[in-house]
Order: sequence, then structure tokens, then C-alpha cells
Amino acid sequence: MRKRIIAGNWKMNKSVTEAAELARAVVEGMKTATETEVVLCPPFTDLTAVAAVIQGTPVGLGAQNLHWEEKGAYTGEVSAAMLLSAGCTHVIIGHSERRQYFGETDESVNRKVKTALKAGLIPIVCVGETLAERQADETAAVVERQVRAALEGLTDAQVAGLVIAYEPVWAIGTGVVATTEQAQEVHAFIRALVGKLCSESVAAALRIQYGGSMKPDNAGQLLAQKDIDGGLIGGASLDARSFLDIVYA
Ligand code: PEP
Repeated sequence: MRKRIIAGNWKMNKSVTEAAELARAVVEGMKTATETEVVLCPPFTDLTAVAAVIQGTPVGLGAQNLHWEEKGAYTGEVSAAMLLSAGCTHVIIGHSERRQYFGETDESVNRKVKTALKAGLIPIVCVGETLAERQADETAAVVERQVRAALEGLTDAQVAGLVIAYEPVWAIGTGVVATTEQAQEVHAFIRALVGKLCSESVAAALRIQYGGSMKPDNAGQLLAQKDIDGGLIGGASLDARSFLDIVYA
């Protein structure tokens, strides 16, 4: 049985004070026990403040990116060791916004995944097709290329322990959510692919999140799908109530 994982990607939002407030509201709203793993992914500048708030709670902390090198002359970058020292347990890698605006490639995603795993961070690896790719019937080919590249050179145990987020780019921040059938179809495709690349048991253990305009009113249906093991939540994670409604959906 895979443990559901809901992660909030706060993107470039929230000052240190605002981030601590939002984290506090999430922690306080989680007084009812849940089997769901909950992870908050604030900007780098908010990590330590959020870490202090969630300390001693079951809520995990994730960063939104990392660099593959250990340290050195890489102005503006942040290493895995720095993320660990700030209290991170998870890290988002290869988000479509990073691929689209910051030159992230399948190759850099793979390097980052390896670095994160080596450091003991759980990667949340994002894959997903653009609208043009879906309309050209290239969804499977694009997702397969991204998954194969991200997992290149990893052991079965490493693959079983990471998280893949399927995020159709056309659904991110647009309010257009994939239908449950569209989402389930790609999730099943990813799981079958991992079955071929690794083994059936790795595929069965792998958690695959859906991301793209997941909100309280559509989360229940999406999360009920056989191969959807959680959500990566953007916009709706910036409000504690709507994020918690998804956690408890
Ligand atoms: C995301 O950026 O990962 C995301 C899913 O955003 P939104 O929920 O706002 O579509």
C-alpha cells in the first residue's frame, strides 16, 4: 500500500513572516490524524523559518530546486548539504517552470536527482507534456523520454524511494485540470514504464503525484484513481484551508 503524499509548491511567494504563518496554519489544521504524508516547499529564504514551525510535527520540508555540485563558485545556487542543514527532507526537481524559464534539461534533472539521493533527500521529479505536445499526440513519448532520462543510472531501490509528479504543463496554474481519465492514463503509463525499466515491485512501490490545478473540489476524484498517489499543489497550497481540504480529500 503506497502512502499518499501531498506537497505544496509555494513557488516564489511568501516573505519569511508570511511563510511561518502559513506553515503554522497548516500544522494547526492537521490536528486530525491523517495517513497522508504532507510536505511544504517554500522558497529557499523561508526554509529555516518553516523548519522551526514544523519541528516535531509529521510535516516534511522540501526545497524547489538544488544544484548538483557539492559546493564552490556557483553564484546563486544551493547545494544538497545546504538543504539538509536547513531541515529539508524532500526536493522538487525539474519543475516545468524550471525547464521552461531556467534552462533545466533532462540531463540536468538526472544529475540533480542523483545528487539529492546521494545526500538522502527524497526527489519529487516533475514530468509532463505541453499543450502543443498533447495536441500532437506526443504525450507518451515526451513523458517516457523525461522519465527514462531522470531515472538513468539509478538503482531499483533509489527509484522505489523517489516520487514522480506528473504535471501536464497546460494544467499548471491555468485552472484547467486534466480529467481523471487523462491523469490516470498517464500515471498508469509511467508505472508500467518503471515496471519495464526496473521491476514490477519497484513500479508497485513508486509514488506518482498529479499536479496541475488540483483544488479542493477536484482533488477527491483525482486521488481516488488507482495510480494517483498524491498531489503537487501550486496555487491552492498558498492558502492553508484549501491545502488542508486537499490533504483531507
Ligand atoms: C505546480 O506548479 O506544481 C502546480 C501544480 O501548480 P498549480 O496547482 O497552481 O497548477
